[in-house]
Amino acid sequence: MIDETHDPGLESWVDSANRPGCDFPIQNLPLGVFRTPDNGQPRIGTAIGDFVLDASEWIRGETLNGYMALAQQERREIRRQLSKALAKGSERRELIPQASCEMLLPAAIGDYTDFYASIHHATNVGSMFRPDNPLLPNYKHLPVAYHGRSSTIVVSGTPVQRPSGQLGAGVFGASKELDYELELGIFLGPGNRLGEPVAIEAASEQIAGVCLLNDWSARDIQRWEYQPLGPFLAKNFATSVSPWLITWEALAPFRVPPVEHDTPVLPYLQSQSETALDITLEVWLRAAGMPRATRISSSHVRDLYWTVPQMIAHHSSNGCALRPGDLLGSGTVSGPEKSNRGCLLELTWKGAEPLELAPGIVRRFLENGDEVVFSGYCERDGFRRIGFGSCSGMIFPGPQ
Ligand code: CA
Repeated sequence: MIDETHDPGLESWVDSANRPGCDFPIQNLPLGVFRTPDNGQPRIGTAIGDFVLDASEWIRGETLNGYMALAQQERREIRRQLSKALAKGSERRELIPQASCEMLLPAAIGDYTDFYASIHHATNVGSMFRPDNPLLPNYKHLPVAYHGRSSTIVVSGTPVQRPSGQLGAGVFGASKELDYELELGIFLGPGNRLGEPVAIEAASEQIAGVCLLNDWSARDIQRWEYQPLGPFLAKNFATSVSPWLITWEALAPFRVPPVEHDTPVLPYLQSQSETALDITLEVWLRAAGMPRATRISSSHVRDLYWTVPQMIAHHSSNGCALRPGDLLGSGTVSGPEKSNRGCLLELTWKGAEPLELAPGIVRRFLENGDEVVFSGYCERDGFRRIGFGSCSGMIFPGPQ
């Protein structure tokens, strides 16, 4: 629902929030968990311009799980109050510079499920391995996913160790084909009881908000281990998420009709409401030794074949219980053009088309010291642009 909190004319008494292009204007109000050098207690805050406002007055706790468990109406009310407190004309409050905050994971994540919702990614990857038959027969009938591992989800900025694993029969060693996957992360809201599926028209009430997600992947380990049960150690060594939860309410102006399906889906996956999200995602790579990062791709969440409500309706269709703080990954967000490819496997076509970042600096896969940074934003005529902050990770070598 679009309301007064989305009014593009609304300004904050925090000057940096009114700067054009700022990720965190008063129309955004993302939530995160932070602590400071002089107060080690984790607490909930909202990002505004270059600052954080302690939001403990409205949301208590050391994680956002309690907030995520609230009904949509209650979450909307909290947004209204935060907006009022930060609007021009309201009494100034104490702010903490973002630069002095240590951001923590937004939630205690119980379960993590990774989807495969981009038909462009599925087609690209499928055609590398099965040129005649890139899409498997189930693709247009259900949103394919696997269960990931929550114990290795880390917040942006955490260094990522290059994994070792089996690379073939009788071969164990450090992965030589380390990759990132550009994904949208989705934190779930109140959840459902075991045995009670979520109807698709009620599924959006289960979305607490979204973030940037990097599903780090070791392609050589993956290629050897994945049949017949799917990804395992190639993907569960690290998953990075951005610290700020962009709430479902903040995304209200950026919901768009989903892409057309040429194959009809079963009724439990059919929705009458606009449920796709218009979010632009970008990948920046700072190769070891380079002074700054270069943008290497950008893609659009609206190009996903499956919407988030379809993922939720499908996930719970067998009665599987979803809980507040559970995390979904969209799967690599790729698009129709080469510049839209959301991982190096696609961008360099399995290493056959290396990426030249600067004269003499070429990448097929990630090397030690490389830093991958994701960013994201929503913009639409008549509304204020909102940004996601960033999700970064630098690769360091594992034990030899
Ligand atoms: Ca993935």
